[in-house]
Amino acid sequence: MSELKQMPLLTITAESLMIPSEKVAHVQMNNPLEHALLILVKSGYSAVPVLDTTYKFKGVIGKNPILNHVLGLERFEMERLSQIEVQEVMNTSIPCVNKQDEFLTCLKTVINYPFVCVVDEEGYFDGILTRRVILKEFNKYVHLNKTLFEELEEE
Ligand code: AMP
Repeated sequence: MSELKQMPLLTITAESLMIPSEKVAHVQMNNPLEHALLILVKSGYSAVPVLDTTYKFKGVIGKNPILNHVLGLERFEMERLSQIEVQEVMNTSIPCVNKQDEFLTCLKTVINYPFVCVVDEEGYFDGILTRRVILKEFNKYVHLNKTLFEELEEE
């Protein structure tokens, strides 16, 4: 077990794995849902972060909650998209990580989410960490250290 503790993988931080804020598509809290849906459809992402005007992280908005919100009894009431603001529909209970958080914290945090946001101590948005990047890193490490894992299995 002592070898496992020394794995460099465990000391990799969120900062080195995140997609930095300048490369992340986002919307603002007071944008109409119409704008958010446009960003989501054009980017192909199922959800994007929501920021306030000072670039603090506020939540996440996805295609499904938007469409669900304007779903009437018999049809999607698309005309309502321009009347409702993102802040009324966004999900605010998504966990975040800090740039300094180590690999195992990141791994645990993305188990239930395709991505989580990286924020600083004051809540400013630094970027996102995707489950894909975490799994890719883990996969690489297990393959590079196959012998170590095989030895552990034999013990
Ligand atoms: P991926 O692992 O690349 O499939 O990304 C998983 C999810 O993370 C996507 O569906 C988006 O919700 C989000 N995401 C990934 N990259 C970006 C980006 N550059 N800007 C905004 N959201 C992103």
